[in-house]
Amino acid sequence: MNDIPTIVEKITELVKTRLNDSEKSVTMTEIERTTRELLLELGRQVVEKTTQAMAQKYPEETSDCECGQKATYIRQRKTQLRTLFGKLTVKRAYYLCDDCHTGHYPLDQQLGLRPNALSAELARLVGLTGVHIPYGKGSELLQELAQISVSQPCLAKTTGQIGEVVQEREEKLQQKALESNYLAKRQRESRKPLRLYGAIDATKVQVRQVGEHLWRDLKLGAWFEAGGKPPKTPDGNWTIAAENIHYYADIAAAADFSSLVWATAVEQKADLAAELIILGDGAEWIWNLVQENSPHTIQILDWFHATEHLADLAKVVFAQEAKQAAWLSTAKQLMWEGDIEALITACQALQAVSSADEIRTTVNYFVEHKERMRYAHFHQQGYQIGSGTIESAAKQIGMMRMKVPGASWNTDMAVKVAKARAAYLSDRWRSLPLAA
Ligand SMILES: [Zn+2]
Repeated sequence: MNDIPTIVEKITELVKTRLNDSEKSVTMTEIERTTRELLLELGRQVVEKTTQAMAQKYPEETSDCECGQKATYIRQRKTQLRTLFGKLTVKRAYYLCDDCHTGHYPLDQQLGLRPNALSAELARLVGLTGVHIPYGKGSELLQELAQISVSQPCLAKTTGQIGEVVQEREEKLQQKALESNYLAKRQRESRKPLRLYGAIDATKVQVRQVGEHLWRDLKLGAWFEAGGKPPKTPDGNWTIAAENIHYYADIAAAADFSSLVWATAVEQKADLAAELIILGDGAEWIWNLVQENSPHTIQILDWFHATEHLADLAKVVFAQEAKQAAWLSTAKQLMWEGDIEALITACQALQAVSSADEIRTTVNYFVEHKERMRYAHFHQQGYQIGSGTIESAAKQIGMMRMKVPGASWNTDMAVKVAKARAAYLSDRWRSLPLAA
C-alpha cells in the first residue's frame, strides 16, 4: 500500500490554499516557505501521535519500581516535550510505589522522553551549534536553518550539558585507570597498538572570574595513529595522516591534568603500545607529566616549535633578511641532522656578533631538550616529528570557539565547552550518551 501520492495530493492542495490566502504574491520563495512551515507542523503532529501511540491505552495495574517492589497505577499525566518539530504534548501513565513512594512513568523510560526539556536529538543539534559558534549567532542560525526556536541561555545550557556528559565520562575513566586489577587484566587481554602518538599542548583563553578577566591555560591532549611520511628535507612538504584521533581538554593545574592524560592513555591503550611517542613543545609541565606517567616513552620536541625558536633568534641577531635566511638555513640543516651539539655551537658563535639575551635562552632551550631533538634518528625510525594534529586542535578548540568576539566565559563553562568541542573533533559526538 503506497499512500504517498494521495498524501502529496492533499498537501499540495493545502499549500495552494495557504498561498492563495496570503496577501503576498506567489514566488518560489513563498512556495518553499509555505511548504516548509506546513511540513513542520505536519511533522510535529505525526511525532506527537506516534509518541502517544506508544503509550498503553489501558495501563497495567502495576509496574516494576526501581526498588524491586511493585508500583501502583495512579492516573494519566500530561507533559510537554521539545522536539525537532517543536513543542508537543503527550499523556502517559503515572505509577507510585507503595514501598519507597517514588513515582515513575514507564513510557519515559521506554522511549527516553525528557519531560519539559529538549529531546535528545534536539539537544544534540543545539549542542552541535553551541560548540561551533557564539550562542547569539547560534540561536539565529537554528531559527533560520531549521525553524528551531532556542534562546541563548538554552543554547548555553545545552552545550554545557554536553560538556558535563564528557566530564562524567572522563571522571569514570580516571577512577578506572587507578584500579590495579583492571590494569593487570588489560595487560593479558587487550590487543596492543604497535605505534601510538600522544601530543600535549596549551593555549591561553580568557575567562571571567569574580568580575575580572583572567588568562588561563587551556591544556589539550591528543592520542592518534599516524600514517604518511615526513619530508626528505627540512623545507619539504609534510603529509601527515593522523587517524583515530582522540582529543581531551581541561583548564586545570598540571597535576590534575596529568590524571586525565593517564586516564585517556589507558582508554586508548597507550600504556600497552609497543611504541609510544610523545610530541610537545618546550613547556616544562608537559615533560614532567610525561616523565611521571610513562618514563619509557619516546619523547620528541615538536619540530615546528623548535624551528620557530631558531627563526626568532635569527631575527633578533641579524638585521638583514638575507643574512637571517642564510644562518637559519644552516642551523635548520644541523637540527634536521639531529646534530644538536653543532647547533648549540652555531648559536653560541652568534655571541661574536650580538649580545642579545635570546642567544643564551635559545642555547639553554636546546641543551634542555637535546635528546628530544635527535631528528635524524627519529626519521630513520619513521616517526612523525611535528604535532600538527594537536596544534590544529589547539586552534580549533581554543581559538576558533573560545577567543571569538562575544565569547565571555566563566571557567566552569569554558571547561565544558572545550570538552564538548574536543569530543566533537574526536568523532565521539554520536556515541555520547545524550539521552541518559
Ligand atoms: Zn519503590
